[in-house]
Amino acid sequence: MTGNRTFTMIKPDAVENGHIGAILEKITAAGFKIVAMKYTQLSKRDAEEFYAVHKERPFFGELVQFMTRGPIVSAILEKDNAVDDFRALIGATNPDEAAEGTIRKLFATSIGENAVHGSDSDENAAIEGAFHFSGREVF
Ligand code: ATP
Ligand code: MG
Repeated sequence: MTGNRTFTMIKPDAVENGHIGAILEKITAAGFKIVAMKYTQLSKRDAEEFYAVHKERPFFGELVQFMTRGPIVSAILEKDNAVDDFRALIGATNPDEAAEGTIRKLFATSIGENAVHGSDSDENAAIEGAFHFSGREVF
């Protein structure tokens, strides 16, 4: 149902630092149901397509390099008001500006290596979920 789903990735920094379990615990404790999930790694082409909206930004090359350097966990999450509530749970892009208790405040190391992704609209949540999962992988 529209408005009830968002898409997330636990990014390579958080995986490398051993935070998968703690982040999933925060997500489920906040009332999100996991309806799809996989442990995977983005190719350069995947990352360039996923972040195409940022391709003119000065940090694009760095972002693609970072997002492809190791495995990620990708997931579709379900909850009322999922997109906005999940953005609130993860906090600001820059962990220095993220509120206390948010996932980025707790687990991110910098504006570039910021532990998690969260979709920014219902439309993008649907596009991003479909980029990562086929219909039979969503429950
Ligand atoms: P995401 O889309 O990953 O959830 P966001 O919506 O908070 O993050 P965006 O503006 O969409 O932020 O930026 C996408 C990603 O690009 C950021 O999460 C971060 O990894 C990287 N990024 C953004 N701004 C910078 C920057 N100034 N320097 C380096 N990397 C950046
Ligand atoms: Mg974004």
